Amino acid sequence: MLLAGKVAVISGAANPRGIGLATARLFATHGARVAILDLDETAARDAAAGLGAEHRGFACDVTDPAACKEAARRALAAFGQVDVLINNAGITQPVKLMDITPDDLHRILEVNLSGVLYLSQAFIPHMRERRQGSIACMSSVSAQRGGGIFGGPHYSAAKAGVLGLAKAMARELGPDGIRVNCVTPGLIQTDITGGKLTDAMRQEILKGIPLNRLGTADDIAGIYLFLASDLSAYVTGAVIDANGGMLI
Ligand code: NAD
Repeated sequence: MLLAGKVAVISGAANPRGIGLATARLFATHGARVAILDLDETAARDAAAGLGAEHRGFACDVTDPAACKEAARRALAAFGQVDVLINNAGITQPVKLMDITPDDLHRILEVNLSGVLYLSQAFIPHMRERRQGSIACMSSVSAQRGGGIFGGPHYSAAKAGVLGLAKAMARELGPDGIRVNCVTPGLIQTDITGGKLTDAMRQEILKGIPLNRLGTADDIAGIYLFLASDLSAYVTGAVIDANGGMLI
């Protein structure tokens, strides 16, 4: 029970096949009470109900600072405290450099990068007051390799921005007792990737992965659990790769 007595808020966690809900499930088995945030209130509430009566689901579009503040208010009203924030929400768009429109760029940056800032800003005052907290942010191997299979260059840029933002937050918030870290997954089988992967593509991709398999949502949930728990009490500003060895 690594999270006994703790409350965790996880963004982008209503999709039954996504990394966020796998994380919520794992956190719940480790004793955490969880608030699931996602675009749709009913989906978030249903996902939370599936975990047990002590969990909650709230609508929150992370691109809207007012919605982030409202989600924080509701989470704190429900639980009285928040110990862990998982900035997991994200979207991708497989598009080539020259095809990116200003609207595409804006949307990808808003969800993947601005959303991390807005949602963190909503919870930091409470964490500062209690002089404790762990924030984990979702980046991607796309940030490190300068490209992914399903994300365009603007996605790589947004996820690279998350690395810089998280390190800056870790530096500024460390003296307040708040840790901030990042996860950089490789190719994980979820809705973002799953349906679009042909057998030929999969074989080609596996040639570059020493562990010879794609990742699962549970592979990433385990990293979030480590970062959320006191096992990582002296870890801040870190980037944890979970890519099967793709970058070796
Ligand atoms: P997913 O589509 O299941 O999860 C994304 C979730 O974010 C969805 O539930 C979606 O409704 C939610 N969301 C989208 N826009 C939102 C917004 N504006 N506000 C709040 N929620 C919003 O896919 P996933 O693969 O589980 O992705 C989770 C995170 O992992 C994303 O940030 C993604 O970029 C990142 N990631 C995924 C992979 C992969 O291979 N699947 C690799 C590296 C990083």
